[in-house]
Amino acid sequence: MNFDTIEEHAMLRESVRAFFDQELPERRIREMDRARRIPRTLWKRFAELGWMGLSVPEEFGGSGADVSTAAVFCEELARRFPSLATDWLLVSMTARILRESGTRAQQAEYLPRLAQGDFLMGFGMSEPGGGTDVLALKTRADLEGDAWVVRGQKLYTSFADDADAILVLCRTEAAEGAKRARGLSLVLTPRNQPGVEVRRLELMGMRAACTCEVFLDGARAPADAVVGERGRGWYALLATLDEERILCAAMYVGITAAALEQALQYARDRQAFGRPIGAFQAVQHPLAETATELEQIRLITAKAAWLQSSGRDCATEAAMAKLAATEAALRATDRCMRVLGGYGLVEESPMERLLRDTRLGPFSPISNEMVKNFVGERLGLAKSY
Ligand SMILES: Cc1cc2nc3c(=O)[nH]c(=O)nc-3n(C[C@H](O)[C@H](O)[C@H](O)COP(=O)(O)OP(=O)(O)OC[C@H]3O[C@@H](n4cnc5c(N)ncnc54)[C@H](O)[C@@H]3O)c2cc1C
Repeated sequence: MNFDTIEEHAMLRESVRAFFDQELPERRIREMDRARRIPRTLWKRFAELGWMGLSVPEEFGGSGADVSTAAVFCEELARRFPSLATDWLLVSMTARILRESGTRAQQAEYLPRLAQGDFLMGFGMSEPGGGTDVLALKTRADLEGDAWVVRGQKLYTSFADDADAILVLCRTEAAEGAKRARGLSLVLTPRNQPGVEVRRLELMGMRAACTCEVFLDGARAPADAVVGERGRGWYALLATLDEERILCAAMYVGITAAALEQALQYARDRQAFGRPIGAFQAVQHPLAETATELEQIRLITAKAAWLQSSGRDCATEAAMAKLAATEAALRATDRCMRVLGGYGLVEESPMERLLRDTRLGPFSPISNEMVKNFVGERLGLAKSY
């Protein structure tokens, strides 16, 4: 085993930290959180820095980074601005779907624009009647003449309002008997058209990720807009799940690290009874527990990312990392907020935002109950759902 820091990762961490210090200070992050929007100019700036194309292959203008590198990036983004990490994770996932399942023409058309920050894609899977049980979805697309016509409703589609297109998981053919996963396709549906109406949701956390309801009422997409094999869209998605879980875990590693840093700083600075509060054991212990859990989740996430980057099976480790990191981040923000006392509730302290943002982790992109169901199966137990 080798735990040496990888030079490339250390440089990436440094440049993300420098970017936040110089270009995106806490004051601006708070403004975006209140506005519930990440401006397009920020994605363009990310493109200039080479970060939109991190998961895009070099031949399409990206840097073709592996999952370990993407996880380091995601962790650093979440350390300062979890909503931004949430949306970037989608940028990375949609790039992966196009890279692995798109036709050569789709890759040539969209991947370079994605890397340049000129094309943003939302991803519409969840629906009012199909969240955890996503295969219960009702949205469908029918080929009418030279276009797909999409009808249905999506729920919780992140940055749908700002996207140029939404990758919609929908039924294009009848299910094969009880096999609901068959007959679904991914249809890349342009956002700005009369058949698409988007309504922003007023969420408690991850506000700037701009999560929306999407109404598809006769939305049109070109006949060649199916990404991956027609009727096999679900299987194209399955191939991306491990990476999604690893990047999600990395986000919550970042949030945990940020909560710990702030609480440590406060414990050193804040005086009570003539001493820094960090001198009290009752303050030290929760910080020691958080530091220990941070180390655990960082290691399991790095291991899952390493397995994935070296082309090995990592489904169990990726699921475990997602479970462990999201639950640890909940405990970390709760413990660390207590250390900050009243200041933890003041908006100026990033802690209240971290605590709100971290509430998403236990159920998205997959609920931790479902992760445990999956890990149970991997342990050789019966499928429970
Ligand atoms: C901020 C935000 C951003 C999101 N972004 C996107 C996005 O961009 N695209 C997208 O498609 N979706 C997105 N989602 C949706 C997210 O993936 C879903 O919230 C998630 O899949 C859970 O679905 P649900 O909320 O409908 O919960 P439900 O399905 O209603 O589940 C409720 C509870 O029941 C439990 N449960 C259900 N079935 C079982 C079972 N068999 N065993 C044990 N427990 C079970 C769940 O674990 C959960 O605790 C986003 C959500 C949020 C809040």
